[in-house]
Amino acid sequence: MCGVFGIYAPGEPVARLTYFGIYALQHRGQESAGIVSADERHGLTWQRNMGLVSQVFDEQTISSLEGDLAIGHTRYSTSGSSTVAHAQPLFAPSLFGPLAMAHNGNLVNIEALRKDIGEPSNRDASCTDSELALRSIVQAPGRSWTEKVAHAMARMDGAYCLVMLTPSQLIACRDPMGVRPLCLGRYRDGWVVASESCALETIGAEFVREVDPGELITIDASGVHSQRPVEARPRALCVFEFIYFARPDSNIAGRSVYDARYEMGRTLAREHPVEADLVIAIPDSATAAAAGYAAESGLPFREGLIKNRYIGRTFIQPHQSQRTGSVQLKFNALPSVLAGKRVVVVDDSIVRGTTTPPTVALIRKAGAREVHLRVTAPPMTDPCYLGIDVATKSQLIAARLTVPEIAREVGADSLGYLSLDGLYQSVGAASLDPDGRRALCSGCFTGNYPVQISTGDERLIAAGAR
Ligand code: SF4
Repeated sequence: MCGVFGIYAPGEPVARLTYFGIYALQHRGQESAGIVSADERHGLTWQRNMGLVSQVFDEQTISSLEGDLAIGHTRYSTSGSSTVAHAQPLFAPSLFGPLAMAHNGNLVNIEALRKDIGEPSNRDASCTDSELALRSIVQAPGRSWTEKVAHAMARMDGAYCLVMLTPSQLIACRDPMGVRPLCLGRYRDGWVVASESCALETIGAEFVREVDPGELITIDASGVHSQRPVEARPRALCVFEFIYFARPDSNIAGRSVYDARYEMGRTLAREHPVEADLVIAIPDSATAAAAGYAAESGLPFREGLIKNRYIGRTFIQPHQSQRTGSVQLKFNALPSVLAGKRVVVVDDSIVRGTTTPPTVALIRKAGAREVHLRVTAPPMTDPCYLGIDVATKSQLIAARLTVPEIAREVGADSLGYLSLDGLYQSVGAASLDPDGRRALCSGCFTGNYPVQISTGDERLIAAGAR
């Protein structure tokens, strides 16, 4: 996962707005951050580095970024190591002048793209799919950047939301399945594109619409120009955006993420009721669902875990040692709420199963008599090739163990997962497509992916990700 943001506001310096835009998208990636700004007088100027948005930028660096066009990125690595060399936006010089690009997603036809640009396979394992996308665009035939991007879109397979910048244009495109979210907003006389609508609100922009799957948008002094250079494919919006990734105050595909999570909690309460005294959430991503569980079950909702707000999101930290260590630093339990109680604990997902046992242990240590774990996702049994850092099946606890075995492993008295049908229903999948199942990707729960994963690509992705 990554966050992408782009803005054109005629005559206004936009670096500061871009800073706030990517700040609002910090939850989508915490390893590195970058901004490139541009205008025809200064060309492209940039700043990117490892760390959170607030660590990479200060008053001086923001002031040094000139121009009324800008793109920004927050990175979480799924392909390529977590180093500053892979921090985005990326750049490439060309006969047309420089191009900067930021990517959210994961391409799956890496070998084919390598061949296209005349690069031997396995030449450099450090070359990320994002770098291949940039080189594919730069080397594509075409008389304009729009033609080049259109050509590259026809060649790229997998998940991609790209925002690109030249000294005079902001360009954005989304893969024809619409796996990752991307929306368009209005800012005064200008335009904004962002991974999530929460970033539009943060800078005072107005949501206009989603960028359609397969759409290519060019924004410049003459306005917004849209085209659909690739044929639409069956929609495959990542259902995990609703479960965990997106911010609850975003809307995706016309659905409030908060409402979807609340509904997941209600459905979970109907599917897995239990005799208990109270409901708590693993904050923050399960808070809405826990409120929904409590409302449906009639049990009181309390705060049993207090989160240190300054510890990063556990799941998207790249190294295992960072993941397990940060759980201990992340929460404190409240004995005054939990002691002697039978507690329903609502979590958004169990992926590797590394963070759940210490969390359950913390709740027990605070005096909970029983711990009943309820999860707002089905068991995750398969890897994701479209943007989530789970490289191999063997890393997934639900691929190795049955539900009762997982309950024992994590130390819970009972465990209940939301069903796939319950998930689709809670997300409102039917409003996306008459056959709602087909409008959402659920590959990590079913093993059915919206793209063909070739053996070579599988190996390469697994090698690049951790
Ligand atoms: S496999 Fe899972 S996480 Fe990956 S895109 Fe599909 S639903 Fe999302």
